[in-house]
Amino acid sequence: MNVILLGAPGSGKGTVSRLLEERFGIVQISTGDILRAEVKADSATGRFSEPYMTKGDLVPDDVIMNIVEERLAQKDCEKGFILDGFPRTISQAEGLGKLMSERGLKLDLVVNLDVPEDILISRLTSRRTCSNPDCHAIYNTISNPTKIEGVCDKCGSPTIQRDDETETAIKHRLETYKEKTAPLIDFYRNENCFVNADSSETKGVFETAMAKLAMAGAI
Ligand code: ADP
Ligand code: ZN
Repeated sequence: MNVILLGAPGSGKGTVSRLLEERFGIVQISTGDILRAEVKADSATGRFSEPYMTKGDLVPDDVIMNIVEERLAQKDCEKGFILDGFPRTISQAEGLGKLMSERGLKLDLVVNLDVPEDILISRLTSRRTCSNPDCHAIYNTISNPTKIEGVCDKCGSPTIQRDDETETAIKHRLETYKEKTAPLIDFYRNENCFVNADSSETKGVFETAMAKLAMAGAI
């Protein structure tokens, strides 16, 4: 099963991905996580991408397409994948369409996570991420705090506020989303597998996705 999650930063794509991953045993592919790992490893891709990421700008399409092409060719993608944070531009969506048709793959589900902007801002400013790259647990100081402040419940590493989660960077990321990524809703709207999850609750989004899959006969 091949799934795309669309939605602004803070719309809950990561959480919905994890639910789908557990339910269907397919891999989550987050271009943001891959890029952060590249930055951490101080690779050429990481060094090139970091300034864009810190500012809340998109990393250029050709870099992203190379990452995705390589990732989709790996064995664990054979059963399917959940794309989280990709595609983010019309050009990436076109590139993905090409990659998938070359491999004889089809899309089973495109979910748009539709969340009001005030909720996005409050979620992003209160978000904390585990600093351990192998864990990456996500917390929220308001709705999902760690048991001990600043310490990951799962692995004990410090939790941090990402550089791109300061108020200024967040505003910029939301502007970038509106300008570059929101047009993807219209790009996919007419596909049979498109569903708009008009909900600010992650559980509701997951249920909408499951209902759509059932309706399409995919599960
Ligand atoms: P978000 O929380 O905004 O969904 P991500 O973890 O998906 O953040 O991405 C973090 C940063 O990595 C983005 O702000 C952007 O700079 C870069 N990035 C991730 N995915 C893409 C993509 N598909 N195209 C361009 N840039 C990307
Ligand atoms: Zn952790």
